[in-house]
Amino acid sequence: MHEGIRTEIATLGEFGLIKHLTEGIQLQNPETKYGVGDDAAVLEFPDRQVLVTTDLLMEGVHFDLVYTPLKHLGYKSAMVNFSDIYAMNGRPKQMTVSIAVSKRFCIEDLDEFYDGLKLACQRHQVDLVGGDTTSSVTGLAISITCIGSADKEQVVYRNGAKPTDLICVSGDLGAAYMGLQLMEREKAVFQGETEVQPDFAGKEYLLERFLKPEARRDVVERLAKAGIRPTAMMDVSDGLSSELLHICSQSGTGCRVYEERIPIDYQTAVMAEEFNMNLSTCALNGGEDYELLFTVPLALREQVSQLEDVKVIGHMTAPDLGCALITRDGNELELKAQGWNPLKE
Ligand code: ADP
Ligand code: MG
Repeated sequence: MHEGIRTEIATLGEFGLIKHLTEGIQLQNPETKYGVGDDAAVLEFPDRQVLVTTDLLMEGVHFDLVYTPLKHLGYKSAMVNFSDIYAMNGRPKQMTVSIAVSKRFCIEDLDEFYDGLKLACQRHQVDLVGGDTTSSVTGLAISITCIGSADKEQVVYRNGAKPTDLICVSGDLGAAYMGLQLMEREKAVFQGETEVQPDFAGKEYLLERFLKPEARRDVVERLAKAGIRPTAMMDVSDGLSSELLHICSQSGTGCRVYEERIPIDYQTAVMAEEFNMNLSTCALNGGEDYELLFTVPLALREQVSQLEDVKVIGHMTAPDLGCALITRDGNELELKAQGWNPLKE
């Protein structure tokens, strides 16, 4: 949290605070007719599909402020919503942000949080058009709603995959989970319980993946440019296994994924070794990668293999073949969703 000057929220009051946080917001999209300041924002999407997604984030459940700077939290809260819109093959356009804040937080804390939100919005050309502000007795709660749009024929659902379709994934997997493990290990240091500073040298990528994920607008744009419309798509927030099982069950297919083809960064591998964890398990079940998982018809093998930062990791099958991972030594293991659903713990 913020160190140094600390201005109590009470000095501004609710309306003063809202004015302070939303001052200077410039609208970037022609679809935004009116933003903050009235009873509702006004949007206009002639001849487009409108996509709406929402996320609720609770302190202590979804984020830990001991090691998450508020600016990063703002950035990430926005990014995970943009990611959901890209996963529908849409473009995010507007966002609302509702916050419940306890007295522990000062104006400077909220400024940092909004700096992160605004940076994410600026990078993805999203307009912050409203929200709600209230008090809390138990820390910070954040609810973000993102509105996006897509051409009528371009929306991609989870249920469109066919047996024989290729399974593709962007970027690499497991790094955010390793970043989280690293943060948890070093938590004592963040809480000031030891003088020894954590040593993150050589592990910067893992921290960045966990603290500052980037929604894959670039991948959606590359697909559009190549004229490829995926048959099914979703973003990887709960882990590859879990997401693949969603696509398979909604599409009525089975799948085969090849362990050796799962993209994993070098730092992720080093960290898994250090933690004595199975690397493939981390890549399959670690969450919060925010990469895109999608399927394309087999006939597009050539085109899709030329897409930058996209890997073909397997293929869909008939449903009776089930969902399996083909290990390096050629064994078939049934894919199971471990995910990290907090409700299961
Ligand atoms: P209402 O009484 O209708 O809920 P508010 O006084 O809460 O209105 O909000 C006034 C304006 O400020 C509205 O346009 C609302 O969308 C916006 N707003 C309120 N809180 C936030 C926030 N935390 N972030 C961004 N905009 C906000
Ligand atoms: Mg309100």
